[in-house]
Amino acid sequence: MKETFTTTCCYCGVGCGIKIQKDNAGTLQLSGDEDHPVNKGMLCSKGMNLHYTVMDKSDRLLFPQMRYNKNRPRQRVSWDAAIERIAAVFSTLIKKYGPDSVAFYVSGQCLTEEYYVANKLMKGFIGSNNIDSNSRLCMSSAVAAYKMALGEDSVPGCYDDIELADCIFVSGANPAWCHPILWRRVEAAKAANPNLKIIVSDPRQTQSCSLADVHLQLKPGTDITLHHAIGRILIENGDIDFDFIKNHAEGFKDYQKQVMQRSVEEAATICGVHASDLQKAAAYIGRSNGFITMWTMGLNQSVIGVNKNLSLINLNLITGQIGKPGSGPFSLTGQPNAMGGREVGGLANLLAAHKNLGNASDREFMQQFWGGTSISANTGYTATQMFEALNDGRLKAIWIMGTNPLVSLPNARIAEEALKKAKFVVVQEISNKPETLQYADVILPAAAWAEKEGTMTNSERRITYLNKITDALGEARPDAEILCHFAKKMGFEGFDYAHPSEIYDEHVRLTEGTHVDMSGLNYSILKAKRSVQWPYKKEEKGLGQQRLFIDRKFYTPSQKAIIHSFEDSNKSEQPSPAYPLILTTGRIRDQWHTMSKTGKVNKLKKHIANAYVEIHPEDAKTRKIKENDLVLVKSVRGEVRVNAKISASIREGVVFLPMHWGKILNRDLNRANNITNNLLDPISKEPDFKFSAVEVALYQKP
Ligand code: SF4
Repeated sequence: MKETFTTTCCYCGVGCGIKIQKDNAGTLQLSGDEDHPVNKGMLCSKGMNLHYTVMDKSDRLLFPQMRYNKNRPRQRVSWDAAIERIAAVFSTLIKKYGPDSVAFYVSGQCLTEEYYVANKLMKGFIGSNNIDSNSRLCMSSAVAAYKMALGEDSVPGCYDDIELADCIFVSGANPAWCHPILWRRVEAAKAANPNLKIIVSDPRQTQSCSLADVHLQLKPGTDITLHHAIGRILIENGDIDFDFIKNHAEGFKDYQKQVMQRSVEEAATICGVHASDLQKAAAYIGRSNGFITMWTMGLNQSVIGVNKNLSLINLNLITGQIGKPGSGPFSLTGQPNAMGGREVGGLANLLAAHKNLGNASDREFMQQFWGGTSISANTGYTATQMFEALNDGRLKAIWIMGTNPLVSLPNARIAEEALKKAKFVVVQEISNKPETLQYADVILPAAAWAEKEGTMTNSERRITYLNKITDALGEARPDAEILCHFAKKMGFEGFDYAHPSEIYDEHVRLTEGTHVDMSGLNYSILKAKRSVQWPYKKEEKGLGQQRLFIDRKFYTPSQKAIIHSFEDSNKSEQPSPAYPLILTTGRIRDQWHTMSKTGKVNKLKKHIANAYVEIHPEDAKTRKIKENDLVLVKSVRGEVRVNAKISASIREGVVFLPMHWGKILNRDLNRANNITNNLLDPISKEPDFKFSAVEVALYQKP
């Protein structure tokens, strides 16, 4: 006999529905859920092979482990002993150094319920805002930009808009590899509608460019100049929405003044593209009835990430292409539940239900609601700041859940030094693979994706319920259960949840009356409807709200969208004679983050098996580098040793490294973050992964 379960893919933010059949022997068979509105049965290579990561139990952490002294090996202990130790150390540190001496570093792969409990615990009971997520590394620039332009962090459109658009501008993203099912919908829309025009801007000619009517192969860091130039052409051609600008937006005059400062020809030279291609792109946008802008890390992961986002959103605002079918600025989230984390305020500068950390009455409300301690007005340490604070002693202890900072953080040696210096490190993980584990004083085994129930929210605000399909392995437990155990050991009240649904009920109650209102939701509704989109108010009977701002009223005090103006110069590390090339890092099609899951699936290694550096033929020639040669990619911070992949699809002067690899045991020579810089966007605190000055040279055996 076979049991059938529905769930959601736990890789990217597309949020595809999955069906799993389990037989009596516990063998799982997986297929795309034909009834799920996101993927309609389709799955990409990663999603299709997800069940292998559950069935392969060889690398699982099975029981808590602990060491009393950094010089001694860790030993198996009971759950109670492990949690008691963490509670004792956290209590001592908090008493001695204050609540800001401890921190939680969580993951966009946590379920919403887990995020909620972690946030409540740190902000509402420990009394610090030191909780941040690895989502800081991928979409915090978009969060800030949405808030600045639209008044709140709110994705205006939905995936169904893809089929209704007649122009899609993909800026700084490669969805064909990183959001594959979404891209298949774009491909199908293009096949069905030859009038649909696709514009891609990217320094690399990626797989997504194969669909492009125009590829703007810009120089890294010039996105704002490019967006401004298109804005200028739209204004000059009269292809803007005067009514929208007059009645529903602020700031147009300053924007117009700003974009007019640079001629299109000058902008084209700065960006390294043809002015005629800018004209072509602007013409596609100008004559479209439905215009979507779509972006991810190419804009977000930048020292000017928020402004890059705003400059793209401006194109939707000046053309009035927002709040109507087939249009809108659409930030694609990288992780499966980055959006759920935002809903519950799982970042150091947010409060639950999108309430405002800077607002005293919001903090007071949250304290009353949770019944804990007063909430600090100070923004907590963000992802990279946590590791800097461990390094200089401001932070004493860190609890890392479901993320591998030793590979994923920029200039990763900082994280490595930080974990060596930390007084106390807790790592909560499913696998014994992540490099970060070696620094753990306590290791807590967590239940994997299919071993717990809860919810996730995808890029289009769609909440899907995930079934528990199989029991957790060994003594592994769901993250929320672990955190509640700790909270109770600390003597905190309000963590006696009998079931994850009770956490969810508390979370949605908090959202009532806010723009992210989900007060009409509970597990029964989510199970019955399969998935819905927020807002979902009490009186809601349908499937939630597909689009926001259909009344053209925004969440700003004036109810108008804000067109922001700013200069276009890049603030990244500049190339020098010693480091003349620009490094950009990113993902490949069949691997996910630091490979702790996808690295277990042999089929996925067939696509690309090893780390490499992509380099232009001219750059390779001047350095006497041939295909597959072993080379060193160097920056002032360190080096990476990988094979060269010579390709004319990357701009001359730019090199690309995938971010997935990074084995410490192999002296981490293939870890891209050995050489990335640790500059941050001043507003979003998102790192500048797309721009570091490097040199490439043939590897010489010592
Ligand atoms: Fe999973 Fe994303 Fe692939 Fe869908 S597109 S199957 S969510 S990895």
